[in-house]
Amino acid sequence: MIAAFFGLILSQLLWTGQASKTIPYSEFLQDLRGGRVAEVVLSDTSIQGKYTAPDAEGHRSFATTRVEPGLAAELDRYHVRFSASPGGGWLATLLSWVVPIVFWVGIWWFMLRGAARQGAGGLLAIGKSRVKLYVESDTGVTFDDVAGVDEAKAELREVVAFLRDPVSYGRLGAHMPKGVLLVGPPGTGKTLLAKAVAGEAGVPFFSISGAEFVEMFVGVGAARVRDLFEQAHNHAPCIIFIDELDALGSARGLSVLGGHDEKEQTLDQLLAEMDGFDTRSGVVILAATNRPEILDPALLRAGRFDRHVLVDRPDRTGRAQILKVHLRTAKIASDVDPDKVAGLTPGFTGADLANLVNEAALHATRRDAEAVAMEDFTAGVERIVAGLEQHGRLMNPKERLTIARHEMGHALVALSLPGADPVHKVSIIPHGIGSLGYTMQRPTEDRFILSRGELADRMAVLLGGRAAELVCGGDLSTGAADDLAKATDTARAMVLRYGMSDKIGHVVYDDQSRPYLDRLNEPNVAQTREHSEATAALIDKEVRSILQAAFEKATHVLEERRGTLEAGAQLLVDRETLDEDELRQLLARTGLAGTQSTAAA
Ligand code: ADP
Ligand code: ZN
Repeated sequence: MIAAFFGLILSQLLWTGQASKTIPYSEFLQDLRGGRVAEVVLSDTSIQGKYTAPDAEGHRSFATTRVEPGLAAELDRYHVRFSASPGGGWLATLLSWVVPIVFWVGIWWFMLRGAARQGAGGLLAIGKSRVKLYVESDTGVTFDDVAGVDEAKAELREVVAFLRDPVSYGRLGAHMPKGVLLVGPPGTGKTLLAKAVAGEAGVPFFSISGAEFVEMFVGVGAARVRDLFEQAHNHAPCIIFIDELDALGSARGLSVLGGHDEKEQTLDQLLAEMDGFDTRSGVVILAATNRPEILDPALLRAGRFDRHVLVDRPDRTGRAQILKVHLRTAKIASDVDPDKVAGLTPGFTGADLANLVNEAALHATRRDAEAVAMEDFTAGVERIVAGLEQHGRLMNPKERLTIARHEMGHALVALSLPGADPVHKVSIIPHGIGSLGYTMQRPTEDRFILSRGELADRMAVLLGGRAAELVCGGDLSTGAADDLAKATDTARAMVLRYGMSDKIGHVVYDDQSRPYLDRLNEPNVAQTREHSEATAALIDKEVRSILQAAFEKATHVLEERRGTLEAGAQLLVDRETLDEDELRQLLARTGLAGTQSTAAA
């Protein structure tokens, strides 16, 4: 590169030499007097000019270095041939050129090296940058190594079947999704699952982390995405796994810090690549995130990551299964019972459990034991819990009971009211991200219209959580905020949109239900308030009384079933998840079987 610069300088020197000649100042004065100079350009130190006609050697122009006018006149008087040397000679001129260039090139090179060390491949390598890929031709992981996430496994089996035989899979026109998004908290086994899919299908596993795409130089990330897909296509069928998709694909405008353009370019390239390939080529993209809510909606559109698989924290049974997987390689004393250890570790993820087995083994080694015993596990649990609690992760026993009562409240009210959907599952394990427990209801059929009674029952179910907290003698908790918001929405809709309030009558006040054009046609109406202050007060009152009635209904149901509520909450603390069967057994045991028909009015 430096040679190129020298070449440039040299050619410039040659060129100027041909076009004009450098002459002594005395010669310039002679030319001037002889009328051979047509025009001149003056600078502080030099004079450049054009001859009226080419001289003997064919030069059309000249340059000379200025001499102080007084001295020049004196010298000229004695007909001395004289010239000035241009400020320190040609070497100094050349150096004043070259030194800054060398300096800047040096800095540039230094920065490139820095970028290269960060894994970018550097600016020089943009065009042919090889992605720092982690390729495993055989991951060696199977579904047996992943435990406690049966639903996610079941969903991914289809991907395995497809990868094993992409051609005949598409025989009947069946479509394989291009992108599957694994959603769940960190450490729940998303990476492990993706590897297991590759292992089960016996295909190569290309993996890269979204965080790695966020590079210093614009354009590098996009080039890497292009490369990644190119390489994957050459190895199809295969899996591309993108960890931390949110680092790359968070919604535009969300990132305040730099790297913005870069991220957008990389994301656009990823979208383009995903749109550009045919699933029949046998490439499936799996991605993982624990923050699906911040992903750019463009990523989730049909034909991209349109299938989502939830990878939740394991419940007690799940934890016991995960422990069994990790205990396979450890030497275990006979007193170790995975179920008991699972009971000690609420809120642990798969990664926490793997860590626990390791801690226990270390503990046993330190005390020179023959095998890892139960005492090592209890010691390990204490250590890990202390660490996790620092990050505010685990629920304490009192919180667990509060959540269990709350969820059981939802479930019991739902089981008791005819207008509510049947309960499928109750759990105090956080579901997905950012929730406490959950109660899953399964609608028996698709519904297009709902009656006032059904809406009232649904609101009672929503308020059942808070009602249970009160019925059991607890204080109000913040855990019901979501429920309250949903119930309030329903109540407002009943009054404002569906005209279901007796006091207000069959009137619609919700302006959203009126087409915009209608409002334009009646400008007077559009500009005034839709209802008077008095009506507004009445609406508020009606919404509140509908909610109050629903809350009382829930409370009534739960007070009648207080024994079941308490027993159910205890069972839930113990088992963490209760399914339909277990709930039915609970109701039978506490003498409330078949309450779904004996509804409270
Ligand atoms: P994620 O990608 O969801 O953050 P990983 O797949 O990286 O989690 O999990 C880290 C480690 O934790 C795994 O390598 C494995 O040892 C352990 N692990 C996590 N989940 C499970 C599980 N469901 N079954 C068995 N081991 C698990
Ligand atoms: Zn709730």
